[in-house]
Amino acid sequence: MTISKQHYHHLIERIHCEENESILKKVSTIISPNSDAIATHFYSTMLDNKKAAYFIDHDIVKARLHTSLSAWINSAFCYCHNSELIDDYINHQIKIGHIHGRIDVPMSFVVYGMFLIKGEVMRLLKESSINGDDLATAMVLSNQIMDLGLALINESYQGDLVINEKDVQSFKLQFSAHNLAIDCERLRASLSDWMRELLLNIQLNRININTLPNIRHSNFSLWVTHKAKLFLAASEYEMLEQLLISMDESMCIFIAEFDQLDQRTEALNALNHYISKAMWLLENIAKEIIDQDSGRDSLTRLFNRRYLDTVLRHETECSLKNNLTFGLVMVDIDFFKKVNDTYGHNSGDKVLSQLANILSQHVRAGDFVFRLGGEEFLIVLSDVNEVVLERIGENIRSEVEKADFIVKTNTHLAVTISIGAALHDGHPDFLRTVKLADEALYEAKHRGRNRVVTAGSNPS
Ligand code: GH3
Ligand code: MG
Ligand code: MG
Repeated sequence: MTISKQHYHHLIERIHCEENESILKKVSTIISPNSDAIATHFYSTMLDNKKAAYFIDHDIVKARLHTSLSAWINSAFCYCHNSELIDDYINHQIKIGHIHGRIDVPMSFVVYGMFLIKGEVMRLLKESSINGDDLATAMVLSNQIMDLGLALINESYQGDLVINEKDVQSFKLQFSAHNLAIDCERLRASLSDWMRELLLNIQLNRININTLPNIRHSNFSLWVTHKAKLFLAASEYEMLEQLLISMDESMCIFIAEFDQLDQRTEALNALNHYISKAMWLLENIAKEIIDQDSGRDSLTRLFNRRYLDTVLRHETECSLKNNLTFGLVMVDIDFFKKVNDTYGHNSGDKVLSQLANILSQHVRAGDFVFRLGGEEFLIVLSDVNEVVLERIGENIRSEVEKADFIVKTNTHLAVTISIGAALHDGHPDFLRTVKLADEALYEAKHRGRNRVVTAGSNPS
C-alpha cells in the first residue's frame, strides 16, 4: 500500500470523531433504509453500459452483487465508534479491491459505480430533513467516507494488478519460445488431420451434426482459446480467433445447406481457405517466436528488435560516461510495395536479404544493424560526429543505388533507399534519438526519396 493502513485508520477515525457522531448517525438512518434501492439503481445503470454489463449480467452476480453492495453501503455509513470497527471496515475495503482485481474489473467501472452511489446518497441527503449547516456537514462527511472507501479499494486493486502482471510474466518466461513454436507445428498437423476427418465423414455420407468433427472441440480451438491469448501478441491472437469464428460459420452453413450442392461446395471451399490461412499463420508465428527468442531475423540474419533497447541503453551509457557520441541511421526501401506487387513476395524477400548484406558490409566492426520490421532497418553507429554520420549514411545510400539486385534469373532490379540520420544529443532517453531519426527519414521521403536527411541539419 502506498498510503499505510495506519494512515487510513487515522483519517477514518477523524471522520468518526465524537463531534460528528450525531450527524453521522442521522446520515445512517437516512441511507440505510435506502441501501437496497441504491444498489438497484446502481445495477440497472451499470447494465446500460455494454462493457460493464459483461461483468455483472449474470443471475448469480446480480444476486450476490446486490446483497453485497447494499451491505457495503450500510457498513460505509454506519458510525464506527471504536478502533476495531474501523479496522474491520478497512480490511473489508481491501478485500473488495482484491476481488475486483481477481476478476479484472477495470478500475474505471469501480469509479463510475462510486459516482452513481454518490449521486444517490447526495440526493437522499438533500431530500431529507437535515438542512442548513448540518446538511453541508453531512454531505462533506459522506463524500469523505466514499472517497476513502474508493481509495482503499483502489490501493489493494492496484497492488494485485502488479502481482498478477508479475505472475503472467514469470509464467511466460517458464514457457519457452521453443515449446510454443512446437505447439504451432503440432497444430498445423492437427488442423490438417481435422480436415481429413471431415472429408472422410462426408465421403461416407455421415453428415450429421453429431458425427461431424466440431472445430470448436478441436485441438486448434482449445489452443487458441486457452493458450494463444496468454502467449501471443494481441494482433496474432485476434487473427486466429477470427479464423476460428469463420471456420465455425462455414461449418454451420455446410451442414444447414447440405442439400444445396452449390452452397455446400462454397461453404467447404471457404472452410478450406480458412484452414490454409490458419496453417500459414501458425507457420509464421512459429518462425517469429523462434526469431524473437534468438534475437535474429531469420530472413536477413540481422538483429531484430529484441536487443535494440539493450544496445541503445548501452550506447547511451557509454556516451554519457566516455563522451563518445553515437548516431542512428534509419533506412527504408523506396517504393518497396511495387517490388512485391510486380515481382512477387519471394523477390521482395531477396531484395531484403541483399540489402541486409550491403548494410552489414558498409558499417564498421563495432556498429549494429537491426531489421526493425518490414523494409525498415536501423544502424547504430558508435563514436561518430555529424560529419562521419552523414558520410556513412551517404555511402550506404549510394552503394545501394549502384547495386544490382538479382531477384530471379535474368531479373535485375535497381533499388533505392531513403535515410534518416540522427546524432545522440546526450539525453538519457535514447528513444528521443530514434524518434529524431524517424522524423528525418520521413523528411527524406517527403523531399523525394533516395536521399539522406540528418536531423537538425538544414535542408539541402
Ligand atoms: P515508401 O517509399 O513510402 O517507403 O513506399 P513503400 O512501398 O516502400 O512503403 P509501404 O509502407 O507502402 O510498403 C512497404 C511494403 O513492405 C508493404 C509490405 O507488403 C512489404 N513488406 C513488409 N515486410 C515484408 C517482408 O518480409 N517481405 C516482403 N517481400 N515484403 C514485405
Ligand atoms: Mg516502411
Ligand atoms: Mg518503404
